[in-house]
Amino acid sequence: MVELSTLNEQWVRVKARLKDEVGDAAYRNWLRPLTLLDMEGSELMLGVPSRVVRDWVRSNYADRLSSLWRAENPAVKSIEITLSEALADPLKAPIAESSSVTQRPQGLTQQSYTPQSFSAQSFTPPAASASTPPKDPRDDLSTALDPRFTFESFVVGKPNELAYAAAHRVAEASTVTFNPLFLYGGVGLGKTHLMHAIANHIRAKDPSRRVLYLSAEKFMYQFIKAVRYQNTHAFKDLFRSVDVLMIDDVQFIIGKDATQEEFFHTFNALVDQNRQVIISADKSPSDLDGMEERMRSRLGWGLVADIHPTSYELRLGILQSKAERMGRNIPLKVLEFLAHKITSNVRELEGAMNRIVAHSELVGRPISLESAQEVLQDLLRAHDRRITIDEIQRQVAAHFNIRLADMASARRSRSIARPRQIAMYLAKQLTPRSLPEIGRKFGGRDHTTVMHAVKVIEQMKGTDPVFAEDVDLLRRMLEG
Ligand code: ADP
Ligand code: MG
Repeated sequence: MVELSTLNEQWVRVKARLKDEVGDAAYRNWLRPLTLLDMEGSELMLGVPSRVVRDWVRSNYADRLSSLWRAENPAVKSIEITLSEALADPLKAPIAESSSVTQRPQGLTQQSYTPQSFSAQSFTPPAASASTPPKDPRDDLSTALDPRFTFESFVVGKPNELAYAAAHRVAEASTVTFNPLFLYGGVGLGKTHLMHAIANHIRAKDPSRRVLYLSAEKFMYQFIKAVRYQNTHAFKDLFRSVDVLMIDDVQFIIGKDATQEEFFHTFNALVDQNRQVIISADKSPSDLDGMEERMRSRLGWGLVADIHPTSYELRLGILQSKAERMGRNIPLKVLEFLAHKITSNVRELEGAMNRIVAHSELVGRPISLESAQEVLQDLLRAHDRRITIDEIQRQVAAHFNIRLADMASARRSRSIARPRQIAMYLAKQLTPRSLPEIGRKFGGRDHTTVMHAVKVIEQMKGTDPVFAEDVDLLRRMLEG
């Protein structure tokens, strides 16, 4: 007999893998609504809130679900996906990617929010079980927190140290220090992780503080619903009665004028009452084009912390920490290979590692560099396509205002040789080309010249922060 807690842990891992495989949008719409109900004999039962979701999951994800489950737990022989009335909550139904409200599920009845009965507890999503009474719609106001997203599991390096320190400070502080905290950075760099870490931390430390975490998308959905059912008053009361409001991916509401306006009012009301507000976005406040100037400026009043693209060291650190958490012994060579090749973001990095681990389990062979290369062939090819040496040469030449031809020329003055070395260094970092191949692209230079360039640039980066910044900027532009 398998303990339900063990099953739950396995379920968390299965879901995480599915998420990596299918992407955020599909996961959010179809897979996140699934709930682990029970296991009877060798049959595992998953509940879904609606027929639509059930049918879709059955026809599209049943196979992957089965094989991922079997990899986690060989005792699982079959999976039954059933409609579970206890989960049938209009708020939980898949939210269409468009902001259209016509796609809302049928059968919505009017619900009124009563702020008096609103408590911190109602934010915690209840575990679905047959014996729980029908759920209160407020339970779903807050997005479920991922228990794996904690400060402990967040690996800190140069690119994210400011964001981490700021997040940690806000989570620890009992008084509001900077308001709002605005975290921004590209996709998959840890914004949501840090947001959940803050929420998890505060809830554990002081359960009486009302922490509301939700995506901007969900905020909009709630707001539209309130407008539709003439509940805006209750909506306002509800949102303004929290101690900590966290809105993830705020760029989502740009151009959605009414939502944006409402968000701004909520934001102001909370900040005026000295309640902590934490926002994340993919850009800095001033770069949120399409958002009203007064909002952009207000969003930047507190502390703005950005998360830079990962460095090789951070990627390696994350992989090591993750391997440890998974209890896997993955050869360092393989981790280094991944850290070197998958430079886009942490989500892809984790996805790649999950694939390697899953593959090794399925075929029953230990992980090796060769197997990793084989398993990730398609992924690596996509990455290889992304940046070419030509692009690097063009970008670097433009940046330093030298002629493109000088990348291959014999001129040796420093103002030309240095950018050329930077381009060689970037070619080594960002493409899978070998040293001789790179040398050929730079006017048929020898591979030792390229090696020397890489060494020189690395040294300079280590001793000159301004120079390091410059090279990183170039890299970021190239990585797009
Ligand atoms: P974002 O919200 O910025 O798009 P996420 O927070 O969802 O990114 O991060 C993507 C994945 O990468 C998550 O699984 C997260 O746990 C992981 N991750 C990102 N940064 C780190 C880090 N510094 N240490 C550990 N895991 C990280
Ligand atoms: Mg996110």
